[in-house]
Amino acid sequence: MQTLRTESEASGLPPCVLVPTMGALHEGHLALIRLGVREARRRGLPGGCVVSIFVNPAQFNDPADFERYPRALEADLRACESQGAIAVFAPAAEEVYPPRRPAPQPKVPPVGREPGLEDRGRPGHFEGVCRVLMRLFEMVPCRGAVFGEKDWQQLQLARALVAQERLDVDIIAGPTVREADGLAMSSRNAHLSPAGRERALAIHRALAAAQGHETPRAAEAAMREVLLAAPVERIDYAAVRHAETLMPLDEGELAHARARALITAYVDGTRLLDNAPWREPRPAPGN
Ligand code: AMP
Repeated sequence: MQTLRTESEASGLPPCVLVPTMGALHEGHLALIRLGVREARRRGLPGGCVVSIFVNPAQFNDPADFERYPRALEADLRACESQGAIAVFAPAAEEVYPPRRPAPQPKVPPVGREPGLEDRGRPGHFEGVCRVLMRLFEMVPCRGAVFGEKDWQQLQLARALVAQERLDVDIIAGPTVREADGLAMSSRNAHLSPAGRERALAIHRALAAAQGHETPRAAEAAMREVLLAAPVERIDYAAVRHAETLMPLDEGELAHARARALITAYVDGTRLLDNAPWREPRPAPGN
């Protein structure tokens, strides 16, 4: 497996599937890499699966969060190799954002600025995500890119961004990988104390509690109740939304549109997010 550091090394790769990450890889990332390997093979892409590891300063609205973000490059390289990645692209910040060449700042598509979810909780975050994705897609000749359902709004944003910018990149979604007790894997779980980790399980329980309700309002109240009982320190949102636009469902959509329950809450000062499908859509009349 190759380790690449510069734009010119990356742009020399054959067409591939890219798995963008910020490193500190866990089983969730590894599942995405395996998916990337399979998808590259299925699409006949000679470049196979390439993993990028870059802790993107542009998407951290809190400098302290950027500083304390876990980093583990040596272990990450071994993990990528073990899953069959052909190359890891681990650029320095100056490579992604050359000081003398302003990086393109694409307009953030509506799903990244209108729902009032991550866009409200982390101002500027999706500007940074769009910026780094444009640069990664510019540097790495990928025809597909794998994103985790764990970051559901980011996944929808990536889809909207490639459509808006007319990029020839398929966005491939990988399911959320969980610990045996249901906690969604996250590099940030490393910050949780044993007691905090127990309280964090309420997020998964709250998503399950949302299922038994007929309206988003009732489901949202049920999620809050479970979270407050834990208790978590703060709830950024506990919402049921349209699965693609992430906007509130209107009356007409309620019965038939795909919907998603989404939670972001703080435990031990750590911002944790998770989501799940909300009810199965029923077929529209006449279908
Ligand atoms: P990150 O390194 O946190 O930026 O995440 C890189 C990619 O891994 C993103 O597409 C995330 O959605 C995805 N990811 C993070 N955690 C999980 C998980 N538990 N299961 C599946 N994908 C995940």
